[in-house]
Amino acid sequence: MISRIFRSVFFMTILTLILGLGLSVFISSYLSLKQDSEKLRHYTQQLAHVLNESDAPDLRLLDTDIYRINIINSDGDVLYDSHMREETLENHSKRIEFIQAKQYGHSEVHRYSTTLGKRTVYYALKLADGRVLRASFTSDSIISLTRSLILHILLVFTLAVIVSVFLAKKLSASIVKPINNLNLNNPEENDCYDELKPLLNRIAEHQKRIKKLLRKVTASHVQLKTLTTRLSEGIVLLNKKGEILLLNNSAKAIFSKNTDDNGLIGKPLVFLSQNSVICSVYEKRSQLEFHKQNIELNGKYFSLIFNKIEDDSKLLGYVLLLVDITKERELQLQRQEFAANVSHELKTPLQSIIGRAELIENGIVKKDDLPVFGARIKHEGQTLLSMINDIMFLSRVESGVKAKKEKFNIRSVADTVVENLNEKALSKKITVLVNCPDNVIYFTKRYFYEILNNLIDNAIKYNKEEGRVDCTITVERDNIFIKVSDTGIGIPYEDSTRIFERFFTVDRSHSNRDSTGLGLTIVKHIVQECNGQIKVDSKLGEGTSFSLNLHI
Ligand code: ADP
Repeated sequence: MISRIFRSVFFMTILTLILGLGLSVFISSYLSLKQDSEKLRHYTQQLAHVLNESDAPDLRLLDTDIYRINIINSDGDVLYDSHMREETLENHSKRIEFIQAKQYGHSEVHRYSTTLGKRTVYYALKLADGRVLRASFTSDSIISLTRSLILHILLVFTLAVIVSVFLAKKLSASIVKPINNLNLNNPEENDCYDELKPLLNRIAEHQKRIKKLLRKVTASHVQLKTLTTRLSEGIVLLNKKGEILLLNNSAKAIFSKNTDDNGLIGKPLVFLSQNSVICSVYEKRSQLEFHKQNIELNGKYFSLIFNKIEDDSKLLGYVLLLVDITKERELQLQRQEFAANVSHELKTPLQSIIGRAELIENGIVKKDDLPVFGARIKHEGQTLLSMINDIMFLSRVESGVKAKKEKFNIRSVADTVVENLNEKALSKKITVLVNCPDNVIYFTKRYFYEILNNLIDNAIKYNKEEGRVDCTITVERDNIFIKVSDTGIGIPYEDSTRIFERFFTVDRSHSNRDSTGLGLTIVKHIVQECNGQIKVDSKLGEGTSFSLNLHI
């Protein structure tokens, strides 16, 4: 910038000087020539007057250092020359000033000698007797005048260089300094020369536009981040090269990457996991329009959805979505297991019923044995029925459909349960003692009945001969507390949690005790449904105690 300013100033100065000098030399030389020619004319006219008036004047008297005087006769021969001997001079009849003077009475001619660098001005007048008087003077031409001034010109040139350097430095400093001191954060507040104002205004305008755009971009980024952070599904956004642009916290947790975003952004997708599905999706990304597949990652199951992100069929990147399906998968497995178990459990009593029925049909059973067979078929049928009832009730409780509540007396329900189980208890000489307040509560009667029935039934079933069953029921504010203890066979410690699983029985050989393996599962589900808790204390060979609470 400084060198450009210097060059401009220097050339401008030199140009101005050359033009100025040239013009002044030319004008002054023109003016002096004009003046000198005027004088020459005046002098020649006076001299001609003298010559016309006197017959034979002494021409030597006319000599002057300033002008050269000639008198030429009408044939062109030089009769007199004030500076040279006349005999040495050639005939002047061909000289233009002579011809013109003879023809028009007077003539002025300028002649230049480039070799001598001189200029001669002739003024010729025709005298009264036909002769021609010619006066002339010689002066330096413009070129020789310039040549003589060359030293001065060089001096001025040097001065011009010095002045240009000085001026260029000052000028560039005065231009550059305000630019360097500009506060670009607030362009419009700068106090500088007017020529910069439009530029500063444009910068300010651009800055405003950039800030506005930045605000928009930041807002949408924050929006996207907030949205993805809240999602429980793992989301990974990738660019065209398959590099991570954004991933939410759920995705980090799924891939067990606890590093901050900076350690992951820009890395290829396979950096998150070397899982074969992830690797294949990464490698085939450009050919995949939409891809859905279940995968296992760190012991959990996910539904992976991979999709292209396009705008007007222009590929922008990819999105990878991971939906946790571990629970669904577990439920599905449970359902499959349950279906297998149900069919297995139903098969045994059914096979027994069909077998006995076939024996009767084929007349193999003696008449006397028929009532025993009939009773057995009835018993198996009842087992089947209670199992089907249990399964239906269990699936109703599990479905989460809110059961109908009603007002009922808990004492009367407890009495009904004991009454229904009385025969069973008596057959083993078991004493059943129920301590229940005579309270009316607003609750699901069926739930209360099922719990008491299953727990007291088990306490009788898995009790010893002449054993004892104690049932205590209390109501405190919004809770019913139920405790059923027996003096039975007890439950092995390792089975104390498994007893709540569907169809689980501690000892399969006890299956003839009207066992369905669903009673405690029903109890556990009702307790869960009523926001309560259940615990079991048992000692092998000594007895078992179930304690639970229900929120009413
Ligand atoms: P079911 O009694 O029909 O077999 P449950 O789900 O009610 O099914 O009980 C599951 C298993 O828990 C029973 O098979 C039994 O082995 C054990 N169990 C339940 N209650 C008791 C108890 N009071 N004493 C000993 N074992 C019990």
